[in-house]
Amino acid sequence: MLNQHTISDLTRRLAQREISAREITQSCLDRIQQVDGRVRAYLSHDPADALAQADAADQTIAREGWNEARPLMGIPVAIKDVLAVRNHPLNCASKILGNYISPYDATAIEKLRAAGAIIHGRLNMDEFAMGSSTENSAFGTTRNPWDLARIPGGSSGGSAAAVAADECIASIGTDTGGSIRQPAALCGCVGLKPTYGRISRFGLVAFASSLDQIGPITKDVRDAALMLKVLSGKDSRDSTSLPDPVPDYPATLSGNIKGLKVGLPREYLVPGLDSEVKKSVDAAVQKLVGLGADVCEVSLPHTDYAVATYYIIATAEASANLARFDGIRYGMRVDGNDPAELYSRTRGAGFGPEVKRRIILGTYVLSSGYYDAYYLRAQKVRTLIRNDFLNAFEKVDVLVTPTTPTAAFKVGEKAENPLQMYLSDIFTISCNLAGICGISVPCGFTSPGNLPIGLQILGPPMGESTLLRVAHAYEQSTDWHKAKPPLQ
Ligand code: GLN
Repeated sequence: MLNQHTISDLTRRLAQREISAREITQSCLDRIQQVDGRVRAYLSHDPADALAQADAADQTIAREGWNEARPLMGIPVAIKDVLAVRNHPLNCASKILGNYISPYDATAIEKLRAAGAIIHGRLNMDEFAMGSSTENSAFGTTRNPWDLARIPGGSSGGSAAAVAADECIASIGTDTGGSIRQPAALCGCVGLKPTYGRISRFGLVAFASSLDQIGPITKDVRDAALMLKVLSGKDSRDSTSLPDPVPDYPATLSGNIKGLKVGLPREYLVPGLDSEVKKSVDAAVQKLVGLGADVCEVSLPHTDYAVATYYIIATAEASANLARFDGIRYGMRVDGNDPAELYSRTRGAGFGPEVKRRIILGTYVLSSGYYDAYYLRAQKVRTLIRNDFLNAFEKVDVLVTPTTPTAAFKVGEKAENPLQMYLSDIFTISCNLAGICGISVPCGFTSPGNLPIGLQILGPPMGESTLLRVAHAYEQSTDWHKAKPPLQ
């Protein structure tokens, strides 16, 4: 079935005219029809629109032949419901946006289109990307294709589940504190969080502006490299996007990591680390040694403060960013007798409980009298955390850790305990605070249970080439990425 294949396989066959974009797209649509009633990765999708884009791609290939300059021609890519796609709904899995339709394409979407991709479907997520399970979506929880009683991770849970269940070829997620890497790990996919500033965020609904990054979720590392190359680069409409040249990422996947220095952070051996996760990650480290890497222990001494620091900075920024959803400018409105009542009724009815909790926390840590004690201090600790990483990257090329402390948990298991949920992000959050890059690749399964486990590789700012090279060398020495969920 074509929907099970990688971008690189499919584009090779498209270039040789063995298959058509319409056939690829139809196989994804058939799969959605077959399984999405149970997986619920998509909030909405438009088959006629996808097929029209596929036919246009086939016509272009027939007219001009295969063109390397458009490396995603004919490939269906599904989008997290937080990025603007012209003339499509944009809800952030929240009720507050009502029937909002995007008037323009995000830069990431423009770039995907310019590369020939078929932009198809809106993927479920935690409301405004706040969460680790998709249980905070206002439109129902996405299920993990490996076990439908379990969560797919979050906040990009729909993006990971859709790729894992072969309901699309690749997807776009966003990562503020782990939301690409964690669901990718729990669903057995590859998820890449690029360096802060690598990809333009114009057209992305902001959660925490100093942390948010867009990135791909894919079936293998080569596809992640292909997607990153398409998505990266300076954009005059996002002043935080960086001007660094965009390397030919797929060309850096040499398979050779001889002499590469890999650091294992001592502080990541936390008490909640599941023994099966630890066993798989230890075995992955041995694989890297077998491939010629030099492994040593390193220290990131401020790791303990990362979760607390994140939940001050992220909530502070969220409380400011979400002020725009006031019932006047966008989406739903609940009328009131005066503007203040209209705001509070709209926000009261439109936001879910987790979003309200974050806005209240964020407003508190920014309020006069508490600002110095919380927000200002968190910013200082953030600098210490970043320095920990920069010091470590003077000694090693990459760091290796588990992506998550446990495999996917059951739906409802942590829903009543926000702190438990927050602590499940312990390995992914520091990367965003430090602004560095990270990737999760499949590194095993639990037994019994057969749930995917993810290996996280972290690299220095703009270190994506090295990161991808290590991830690819590891992946190619294993078969984990080839496994498919038992979903009929
Ligand atoms: N789970 C984290 C949170 O709830 C991270 C979310 C994200 O990366 N968008 O904030």
